[in-house]
Amino acid sequence: MIERTLVLLKPDTVKRTLIGEVIRRFESRGLKIVALEMIHPTREQMDAHYPKSKEWITGLGNNTVKSYKEFEIPTTLEEDYGTNDPYKIGLMVREWLINFMTSGPIVKMVIEGLHSIKMVRKIIGSTVPAFAEPGTLRGDFSVDSPDLANAKKRAVQNLIHASGNKEEAEQEIKLWFKKEELHSYKTIHDLHVL
Ligand code: ADP
Ligand code: MG
Repeated sequence: MIERTLVLLKPDTVKRTLIGEVIRRFESRGLKIVALEMIHPTREQMDAHYPKSKEWITGLGNNTVKSYKEFEIPTTLEEDYGTNDPYKIGLMVREWLINFMTSGPIVKMVIEGLHSIKMVRKIIGSTVPAFAEPGTLRGDFSVDSPDLANAKKRAVQNLIHASGNKEEAEQEIKLWFKKEELHSYKTIHDLHVL
């Protein structure tokens, strides 16, 4: 039940001076920060962070295909990406993402708590800011959309990365932090809830 998840505050969070606001939302929900650092990531680091498997890249493209359908985006995939192939779309998005993530400092952290992987994703909100629910971080503080981003050949600016599942979390935490950098302490919630 107690999980750890990796969160990256992307360069837009840092430049928009929203670091404190984002951390406050996690902490006020009762989640525990067990590691935290600001870094300017290299291309190599970001390339290692985002998987290279055909499956993951196709999944990334498929998320875009789904958003276009779900939100009835008026332009077509063919117009915006020059292709309907989710793998090719995923490859482009991955490259834009790496450019974006290396464009300035980011904050990396590990968050621990009850069902923290799902909970953090819920607090962040859905991938496309323009359609994220109000009350979520993306829904309250960002306005971007893939059709706008793709016209400019850049990644969607949606403030935060968070691991999507247990396997991603384990792999990402290992990539960004050494074991001895993960701290252990009790919060008020540990004492009253657990
Ligand atoms: P999430 O960050 O919600 O887990 P994904 O894993 O699907 O979303 O995508 C990773 C990141 O890639 C997104 O957070 C966003 O910054 C960027 N992204 C996703 N789809 C697109 C797209 N069609 N165009 C530009 N950037 C995108
Ligand atoms: Mg993801």
